Amino acid sequence: MTFPTSSPHQSIKTRFLIISDTHSAQLSLQENEPQASTPFPFRKSLPSADVLLHCGDLTRIGQLNEYRKTLDMLEDCDAELKLVIAGNHDISLEEYYQREGMRMHRHTFDPKMPKQAKEMWTGEEARKSGVTYLEEGSHTFILKSGAKLRIYVSPYQPEFCNWAFPYERGEDRFNPPEKVVSGATSIVKNPVPDFPQVDVMMTHGPPLGRLDKTFRDEEVGCEHLLRAARRCKPRLHCFGHIHEGWGAQRVSWNPSESLDQDWRKHVARAEPIAVDHSKMVGEIAMHVDISSSSAVKPLRFGKETLMVNASIMNLMYQPQQSPWVVDVDLCQADSD
Ligand SMILES: [Zn+2]
Repeated sequence: MTFPTSSPHQSIKTRFLIISDTHSAQLSLQENEPQASTPFPFRKSLPSADVLLHCGDLTRIGQLNEYRKTLDMLEDCDAELKLVIAGNHDISLEEYYQREGMRMHRHTFDPKMPKQAKEMWTGEEARKSGVTYLEEGSHTFILKSGAKLRIYVSPYQPEFCNWAFPYERGEDRFNPPEKVVSGATSIVKNPVPDFPQVDVMMTHGPPLGRLDKTFRDEEVGCEHLLRAARRCKPRLHCFGHIHEGWGAQRVSWNPSESLDQDWRKHVARAEPIAVDHSKMVGEIAMHVDISSSSAVKPLRFGKETLMVNASIMNLMYQPQQSPWVVDVDLCQADSD
């Protein structure tokens, strides 16, 4: 009997550095002051990673000089792959700008700005910073390690105060038409794939009930996104948008098939990831290992998802919240 030299499903531990809602903040220069009292975990130099994820809100209001600051910040980060989506504040990266740009930008309104903004994020400047800007949908990348990353991304979130990338609460943007619950309207263009086709979901907005509480204690995430995440069961789902929701939790999905109308039952259990503040500030990130070599608890793919709200800005728009570093198993590229 002969044995293959490597398992066909060999997994490769891959490190993700996750940030969101930087709103053109620069990295603080308090490089060598990792004291627990230092309130700025968003400082030079962020930890190296295989993949950097930025979950949107690159700017405060979609001006070109703001995008440039964010690109400069990303250029300073050390990662083989830097994947970026827009958020509701990046108003010149959506058709929204032709509708509302005049109201939002007033004297700086320029109908050419969306083209220039897109060019900045997809052209030479982005390439120089090592950045890949992603549009809504599924994407696959092969890393130098041989790991295959399958990621679903979307910058859209439920309408709130007339910002960019909106949809109405009654509209389902994430599930295929045959899986839309009664009372909701399908507007899907790029449905979230079923399990096990996706390793990572990156959306600007949170799913309903998951790290989505505002300072008024209201859960404002998207119900349809929660249902899509449960159907998809990625290893990691990261987002931002609700600055006060910063944190992470390990979600165990309810295995029952017949819960589609009752979103509260989608999650059987949610375990918050405990935060050691002084360690986090010292390491310039909150670190979670969900790989198979985790000393704490490897993730059970298909049963659990690590949810991460990585908003760097706090409620007062100060960059005082920490990036996340998450170690995740990915499959080897040629294993299927
Ligand atoms: Zn934001």
